Amino acid sequence: MLKFALAGNPNSGKTTLFNTLTGSTAHVGNWPGVTVDKREGVYKKLSSPVQIVDLPGIYSLSPYTPEEVISRNFILDEKPDCVINIVDATNLERNLYLTTQIMEIDVPVVIALNMMDVVRKRGDKLDAKKLEQKTGLPVVEISALKEEGIKELMERAYAAAQKKRAGKSVLEKSPLSHVIDDVRIALKGKGVENPLFHAVKLTEGDELEVKDHPAEIAMVEEFKKQFSDDIFAGDFEAMVADARYKYISTEFSAALTRSEKKETFTKSDKADKILTHRIFGIPIFLVILFAVFHLTFGEDLLYLNTIFGFANDVSTGNAVLDSFVAVFYSSAGISTPGGILFNLMGFCTDQLGGLIAEGMAKTGAAAWAQGLVNEGIWGGVSGVLSFVPQILFLFLCISILEDSGYMARVAFILDRAFRKFGLSGRAFIPMIMGFGCSVPAAINTRTLADEKERIMTNRVIPFFTCGAKAPILAAVCGAIASRYTGIDAGLIVFLLYVFGMAMAVLMVALMRQTSMRGEVAPFIMELPAYHAPQFKNLMAHLWDKLKHYVHKAFTIILASCIIIWFLSNFSWEWKMVSMNESILHDIGSFCQWLFTPMGFGYGTSALNQYGWVFVVAAVTGLIAKENVIATFFILAQALGGLVGVEGQSEDGIAEVLFLMEKTGITWQGLMAFTVFNMLTVPCFAAAATVRGELPKGKFKYTLAFWLLTSYITSTLVFVVLSWWWTAFIVAAVIALVIVYFVLRNKGKINFGRRKGASRE
Ligand code: GDP
Repeated sequence: MLKFALAGNPNSGKTTLFNTLTGSTAHVGNWPGVTVDKREGVYKKLSSPVQIVDLPGIYSLSPYTPEEVISRNFILDEKPDCVINIVDATNLERNLYLTTQIMEIDVPVVIALNMMDVVRKRGDKLDAKKLEQKTGLPVVEISALKEEGIKELMERAYAAAQKKRAGKSVLEKSPLSHVIDDVRIALKGKGVENPLFHAVKLTEGDELEVKDHPAEIAMVEEFKKQFSDDIFAGDFEAMVADARYKYISTEFSAALTRSEKKETFTKSDKADKILTHRIFGIPIFLVILFAVFHLTFGEDLLYLNTIFGFANDVSTGNAVLDSFVAVFYSSAGISTPGGILFNLMGFCTDQLGGLIAEGMAKTGAAAWAQGLVNEGIWGGVSGVLSFVPQILFLFLCISILEDSGYMARVAFILDRAFRKFGLSGRAFIPMIMGFGCSVPAAINTRTLADEKERIMTNRVIPFFTCGAKAPILAAVCGAIASRYTGIDAGLIVFLLYVFGMAMAVLMVALMRQTSMRGEVAPFIMELPAYHAPQFKNLMAHLWDKLKHYVHKAFTIILASCIIIWFLSNFSWEWKMVSMNESILHDIGSFCQWLFTPMGFGYGTSALNQYGWVFVVAAVTGLIAKENVIATFFILAQALGGLVGVEGQSEDGIAEVLFLMEKTGITWQGLMAFTVFNMLTVPCFAAAATVRGELPKGKFKYTLAFWLLTSYITSTLVFVVLSWWWTAFIVAAVIALVIVYFVLRNKGKINFGRRKGASRE
């Protein structure tokens, strides 16, 4: 099978093209660095199928970042039959810089001029024929998004793949052409493949090449002496880059005619003036985020009920009809979109749960089997599923922000605000991805060139609440809000999300002052133009999430539910017993003391009963965070059950309320419990991924970091919320720590460091 590689700059539309070609649904994000590893698929619309390999987005073929190495090695070693170089036509010059490097390799290359829809809309003209002449490579105008020009692109790539192509350089007229040519001939004489490419890289002083070809580097060094008076002072790397850009602007740019009536400010620029404003940028981001959480988790749409007080319970006389109407409109007011989805799902699971219980009763199965199905399997799994529509709505909102180009701005705004504290905007991209799932977010940290930054980012990614933790927040905040009227669940969820982000910033700042001192890597990111989010992209993204969620619910969570159910219903002698005599009770009680400072260990209730329920829930969360909710469901039922109880709905919130009542846990303890789950060791899958991304030997410290941070923070949350005046003590301690670091950085204190060992 022929093999084509897609290579191009980050954000040039490679993933979109890959998805269009292969029918895959890989995640498209409107910011650089979304594809970190290479991806493969098959294009089937030519006479024979072609394998498509999507390489990570890169700006050059120098080995500075892991992605550059992956892409370079793939093209050189795996020898694709053709490289499709995707070029963002709205940023022609910068994108062609990579092209000038790829064309030096002896491989057929086709240029795909992407985003032509935008170029045309702007009124610019791009002469593909002219570019074809100048580059000597086939050029095809396409729009990956609108699926235009795809067939022609593939046909031309197919035709190009049939012929051999020798590398060609744009550096022929540069003063370095002599040395490049000499080295090329020397390498060719030795039988080195792609001699031109290696000769150029060697001349640039590329570290990989210098290692591989020590004999030829002497030729370059010799030649260098002639350039000691040059403005670049013999910096051949800079000279090569300069020559490439000059060539692009004198030769290639002739293909582009910009529209005469160019506005000085595009719409994107105007929007950016407000959205990335120095002072208002962050408040605007927080307001947008709040709106998202209000619409997802709030009950009273836009606070209409609080303001105008129009809310009612409707009574039609029919209980089922009434509960259906309450999905949209109740004493809490008109529901938010997220609220409606949540209620609707709750309504469905209620009805279904009832039917299953009835069906099981009719089969006359043994009591334990009925319990296992109704409480263990259905109880746990439905608990997790009941949050799916609401979480999907949250993702829809986040995807819209991402695809429109706004999230890239957020990284930029945050960079400006937090650079002083040791965080770079580049590191915020994987962190924000953590709102979805920590696994791809941790993988994305590969794009960070600085090792310390990579370690710190991996450590704090779990603090960005992922989709699996969202149900915990929704259930706990929903329960607290319905217990204490006047509180908006959406607001508490929002505050908890912000709290997670603030903890991430705080912890990175702290690490920067202690174990991870160093300079913040520069952050250069070109902001993509805003565009309307694509329905297809959004749906593909949601579909992916849904599949992942449902798959998890019926595998890992189902298995955990069955185990929890057995442990909570059976004794060590393997007899069915009440929960207080169960194996789980013994295990939970055994480690309960550990959690006492956080308000969900001993002393949770006056009777000191069932407090361990929360301990068990937190521990099962290590397997998958959805398990926390699943455990709530199963244990609530084991404690007296909600299934079949008239007027009680199975929606997670009811379970938490029931557990509050049974265990006597305070709302402060519940908040501390939530914070603990947010900050502690993430699920196994995420922890394993982080482990893979960290340098050897760093994982144990990371594990300790998660445990300590969650334990201490959650204890503080419990203490401060329970006894408000302790907030002053905590604030004073934090202030002292800050003062200490400020003074130390100014060199006024030299505590615990040997003389002369200061790194400032
Ligand atoms: P990658 O980083 O190179 O993989 O780029 P993506 O495929 O993630 O695309 C980056 C952004 O550009 C996304 O928001 C896409 O929707 C958008 N995009 C991709 N191709 C086109 C196109 O042909 N026209 C327009 N208008 N937008 C595009």
